[in-house]
Amino acid sequence: MTALPVHRITMPTPYPVGPVNSYLIQADPVTLVDAGINTPQAQKALLLGLEDIGLSLEAIEQILITHAHPDHYGLVGFLQERSGATVYFPKREIARVRDKQMLFAIGKLLLEAGMPLELLFKMDQQRRQGPKPGMDHDEVVPIDEGDEFDFGGFKLITLHMPGHTGGHVVFHEVETGTLFAGDQLLPEVSPNPLLEPSLDEPGERRRSLKEYLASLERMEGLGLELAYPGHGDPVRAPRELIRATIEHHLKRKSEVAGYLSDEPKTVYELSSEVYPNVRDYDVFLAVSEVVAHLDLVVEDGDGLIETDPAGVARYRAPVP
Ligand SMILES: [Zn+2]
Repeated sequence: MTALPVHRITMPTPYPVGPVNSYLIQADPVTLVDAGINTPQAQKALLLGLEDIGLSLEAIEQILITHAHPDHYGLVGFLQERSGATVYFPKREIARVRDKQMLFAIGKLLLEAGMPLELLFKMDQQRRQGPKPGMDHDEVVPIDEGDEFDFGGFKLITLHMPGHTGGHVVFHEVETGTLFAGDQLLPEVSPNPLLEPSLDEPGERRRSLKEYLASLERMEGLGLELAYPGHGDPVRAPRELIRATIEHHLKRKSEVAGYLSDEPKTVYELSSEVYPNVRDYDVFLAVSEVVAHLDLVVEDGDGLIETDPAGVARYRAPVP
């Protein structure tokens, strides 16, 4: 089987994760998978990338988005305005983008994790200063598990794989064993299963790592030969990387369990012990990572939760 006609376009981001990838599928229809971040630098990199391929921006006919993070859909508005392309957006992620309550819900979860209020304000200020995704005036088509994109010689199937975010989708080409993996499989860093409200149970926290591990198991079962990640180089041995990522999280789970003692601690306190040097927005990532692993620790019976009247959860080791 010949390889798919895929070109990788890399754009800078201001985030610690580094540059982000878009993939141009030079087929009928001309398709872009993910749409970079809304900064002048990324816009320029995208235009140069298309020029290298010999395509103009107007040639893009459809855009497929993996998840609603600003570095993956930021240029959607700009691209749609210029090219008239149809934008396909994961169904469960649309609400996240449009719903302003989402931020309050995340703030509430962070307070329950024991994060000091002043740090929460500081984080929110930083977020406001960051690049804003351009998706105010555009129309998107919701996509979900099973939706297919036909290119004549091959097709992509949408698979809902939650983890990094709750509505994350990936695009699978069965014949070649190729996956457009978004941030569900990354070669250099393990994707953060982020702290988010549950999409199904209001007021509840999503069990992000549990969902993520289940998605990885499912991904492992696809028998992949090649994966195109949201960040970093194409993954030529995806099955090995999937296995290594699962193992990484199981090891991390035992490490996090090792921080529990008979003195109850909030997630924020524990995350400052596990990651003593992180600051600013990275505190959110650290808290997300620790709480996600604590879910598994508690499920295994290796940790207990005590919730105070204010809703703040504290974790401790079980009595031996
Ligand atoms: Zn990303």
